[in-house]
Amino acid sequence: MNEFRYAGGVLHAEGVPLAAIADAVGTPVYCYSSAAIESAYRAYEAAFAGRPMRICYALKANGNLAVVRTLANLGAGADVVSEGEMRRALAAGVPASRIVFSGVGKAPTEMAFALGRGIHQINVESVPELETLSEIASARGMTAPVALRINPDVDAGTHAKITTGRRENKFGIDHDQAVEIYARAAILPGIEPVGLAVHIGSQLTDVEPFRRAFTRLAELVTELRGRGLSVTRLDLGGGLGIVYRDEAETPHAAYAAIVEETVGGLGCELAIEPGRSLVGNAGVLLTRVLYVKQAGSRRIVIVDAAMNDLIRPALYEAHHGIRPVAPRAGTESPADVVGPVCETADTFAVARPLAPVEPGDLMVLDSAGAYAAAMASGYNGRLPVPEVLVRGGDYAVVKPRPSFEDILDQDRIPDWLAALPTSERRGAA
Ligand SMILES: *Cc1c(COP(=O)(O)O)cnc(C)c1O
Repeated sequence: MNEFRYAGGVLHAEGVPLAAIADAVGTPVYCYSSAAIESAYRAYEAAFAGRPMRICYALKANGNLAVVRTLANLGAGADVVSEGEMRRALAAGVPASRIVFSGVGKAPTEMAFALGRGIHQINVESVPELETLSEIASARGMTAPVALRINPDVDAGTHAKITTGRRENKFGIDHDQAVEIYARAAILPGIEPVGLAVHIGSQLTDVEPFRRAFTRLAELVTELRGRGLSVTRLDLGGGLGIVYRDEAETPHAAYAAIVEETVGGLGCELAIEPGRSLVGNAGVLLTRVLYVKQAGSRRIVIVDAAMNDLIRPALYEAHHGIRPVAPRAGTESPADVVGPVCETADTFAVARPLAPVEPGDLMVLDSAGAYAAAMASGYNGRLPVPEVLVRGGDYAVVKPRPSFEDILDQDRIPDWLAALPTSERRGAA
């Protein structure tokens, strides 16, 4: 969290005191640092210096247009998993020639949209999907550039809900069917198989599973070429972890060395699809303490952010650092930090050492740039959380908080329910 530091006893995002943002925009609010996004991107560039590498930002980590534009301006492409994300990437300024379409269930309409816009590559995950794409492309007289996403049957050693490269996971094509299916793709109308893709999971803090997965890819490339099939591109997926608590620093150099060692000599164009590692530590969720209460021996700190704004703790038992914006004097003691939503799962931390806090104090949940705002919902009738992007001493609201009227306007009452019952009739019932 290098760009979220204390200066003069108060927490800043780059040059902006977070209290200024809370006062102007209200809480809860997501706050992102441009400098943190840029340095995360540069860390990949530096690790791959001297080797052409297409860096396709995985939009599902954080699809805010300003975040995507920040990365697009640095030269990033995009990895998208829906038409909605592809539209976002295009709107943010990523050219279609730098967009890869991933995902296990692309609808025919989404394929048609992607082809129509001239997408760089579609990563296909099954034979039926390949056949559908073949029909759609050939009906339009087009050729779809396809990479087959391989399931390498490698355990990423990460949380069960974010591991994707085991045979029993829903993702990809079994590696032992890959050659046969690739050969089939080569003769299907409207399909040009250009290469292979893998993505074995997220928040990997050990690089060894990457070595196993990329080695499997390299073996397949050799086998495919042995059969006279052309393989010109490899897409290595995302997955590099970030520091949420006490994980080792993300080893970009070790990752790059593994890429070089396993697939560097194949003469393929290479791409990676990082999401979390580009934006995860570039954001915080800024929240205000509503109440502090004592329940038996427990100190319970109730904040105005909730699981609908940041679901990672409830969904993955994820740890987020929690820091007061203006720490008070006093010793730390354990606190449960919870939101207002009517679910026990709406708990950000249990027995977390925390300095004294009072109602009205501001706190941040750290490492909230990825899979945070992107996964938010309006559960419990809560307003969608706004987003702010900081750059140096400036900031801008990059997603405003809608009004209650905006939200109510999204629903419709059908004609047969349009007339309200009169109070007399209700009284009579
Ligand atoms: C989610 C996803 C990514 C990004 O993963 P991170 O762990 O955020 O880097 C990349 N590729 C595919 C296919 C994905 O589904």
